[in-house]
Amino acid sequence: MNAWEEKVRQKLIATSVNDADFNQLRKEWRFTGNYKDHGKAKASCELCGNTGLRHHYLIANKQTGEALWVGSQCILNFDESIYGEVKKVRRTKQKEFQKQIDGDLLDKIMPPIVALYDRLPRDRQRNLHWVVGKFRRRSGFSPADLTKVFNALEREEIKYPKESFPVIIRSKQDKIEMLGLRKNDLQSIWVCLTEEQRKNILKA
Ligand SMILES: [Zn+2]
Repeated sequence: MNAWEEKVRQKLIATSVNDADFNQLRKEWRFTGNYKDHGKAKASCELCGNTGLRHHYLIANKQTGEALWVGSQCILNFDESIYGEVKKVRRTKQKEFQKQIDGDLLDKIMPPIVALYDRLPRDRQRNLHWVVGKFRRRSGFSPADLTKVFNALEREEIKYPKESFPVIIRSKQDKIEMLGLRKNDLQSIWVCLTEEQRKNILKA
């Protein structure tokens, strides 16, 4: 009997039909497809009692209908079929979640950009169009692109939620741009940077 089994045995026996054979008992349970990401490590496992969990999975006994919210460790230990189901659900949920985040972000940053676009001359519209396309492909603005967008928004006196504009520093070009920014431009995009990006700049 492994440590996990020892820990959950009593609880599982109490909520299952087959109490003689632990391996048979395991097969009574299935993953319901219900999965929660609490965002923070604050949940606990109803089976083994582990605390500080971020992810919760609802498993149910096929015969008794008993249901438990459990953590990843119990899922891994439980049964291969349960683990397989969980993996499938997590993949699709994460995609949905990402889509939702992307949607929320665009709702915030696109209105000022559209307002700016309407006021620019043709050649600069093309340039803005290109910058936004690059942002959508990379999920962030390069430091120099964002500086230009902010300066233009300010020139046109368009209000915008500055801290919602994400910066991406991934390619060599991004890094060169970042280091080449004038002090006031760097100050201007500072609120858009992640903690890690700021640390890297201060180190450079
Ligand atoms: Zn557990």
